Amino acid sequence: MFLCGFFQVSIYFMKGFAMKKVLVCKEKVEAETRVALIPDDIKRLIGMGFEFSVVSGAGLKCGISDAMYEAAGARIVKTEEEGAADAEIVVRILKPESAKGMNPGTLHISYLDPFNEKELLRDFATSNIQAVSLEMIPRTTLAQKMDVQSSQTSLAGYVAVLNAAARLPKILPMMVTPAGTINPARVFIIGVGVAGLQAIATAKRLGARVDAFDTRPVVEEQVKSLGANFVKIDLGEMGQTEQGYAKELTPEQVEKQREGQAKVCEKSNIIITTAKVFGRKAPVLIKKDVLDRMQPGTIVVDMAVSTGGNVEGSSPDKVVTTDNGVTILPGDMLERQVPVDASKMLSGNIYAFLTHFYNKETREFDVRLEDEIMRGCLLTRGGAIIHERFKEG
Ligand code: NAD
Repeated sequence: MFLCGFFQVSIYFMKGFAMKKVLVCKEKVEAETRVALIPDDIKRLIGMGFEFSVVSGAGLKCGISDAMYEAAGARIVKTEEEGAADAEIVVRILKPESAKGMNPGTLHISYLDPFNEKELLRDFATSNIQAVSLEMIPRTTLAQKMDVQSSQTSLAGYVAVLNAAARLPKILPMMVTPAGTINPARVFIIGVGVAGLQAIATAKRLGARVDAFDTRPVVEEQVKSLGANFVKIDLGEMGQTEQGYAKELTPEQVEKQREGQAKVCEKSNIIITTAKVFGRKAPVLIKKDVLDRMQPGTIVVDMAVSTGGNVEGSSPDKVVTTDNGVTILPGDMLERQVPVDASKMLSGNIYAFLTHFYNKETREFDVRLEDEIMRGCLLTRGGAIIHERFKEG
């Protein structure tokens, strides 16, 4: 009896520290088009000693067949339950509904939305799952290769411009023809982080004239280096956090910003807003009064819509048209429109995470708690919520 208990505890701890059997899930949300790991990366990981199961059909929406996974060395399982039965690491993109079906000690890697998913975190903790939250991987130089936020929002910034351009009732580049001269379209990017920079680069490549604004002073140089104009608005004391995120503005500063950028909005054909404040609601930067003054045919894409939105009246999933003919496009999860590249980059991020914690001697994954990357993103372990930001009680 005693020995049996001893072995169970030993197995649990061995599982907790070294793992190699990985399950790649098929995403359950209909709108999700990406897959967490692609065959090229699986092949390399198998070469290192990992073993892979992939749920049948996991890659179909991004052009990857079961046969391609099999050719890479993975075993295809019919259902997630079948794969989870002997998996030590479970990888997926979106958070699951619960920890059901996973073995105690399993390392689960996915987005988790931990600020809003307290119940799920409790479930992971009580089920003894080791939950890694992809969005909590620290945004440090060392972890850059694992930064899913950057890899995905960069693609989203590109898609935002294409979506807007496809709806715009005019072309973007300047054209000088015998029939007359067409002026370039004017594009205004508000918030120049990862998505904003890619949006500027894409709009410039398409020939638009681009203005941009961000509250972080360091951004001005980056905007200029892409050939865009930085809109100067004096908001007094601004800055950024150690991780490079914007600090929240006071209500007076937000008001000043709205006034300062209103004239640029009125002249623009496309406006893309990406202004987010980490862990907080996004500031409303374009209100109805300014929308009312914009030209008919203007296209606005609100990429901050999932955290409250930068544009009054924007919606996460439907196109909104104002009375004066301004179109506001949904700007959430635009990377799903380019799932081939989005999956490749996401897979590259997860590959980097798995190899960072790879132990060459055991040829297995090693949960090194002393590593700052692991401490930043591992939320539950050993039956409890262990991350300082989400601990309860
Ligand atoms: P984000 O998505 O949180 O915000 C998008 C942009 O909105 C940011 O540039 C922010 O400054 C801006 N913003 C916020 N409030 C605004 C307002 N009122 N008006 C105008 N703009 C506003 O941030 P992100 O794009 O994910 O990252 C921001 C920065 O973080 C990057 O540009 C980079 O400097 C840094 N970063 C570092 C690493 C790393 O070191 N590995 C990785 C990713 C990002």
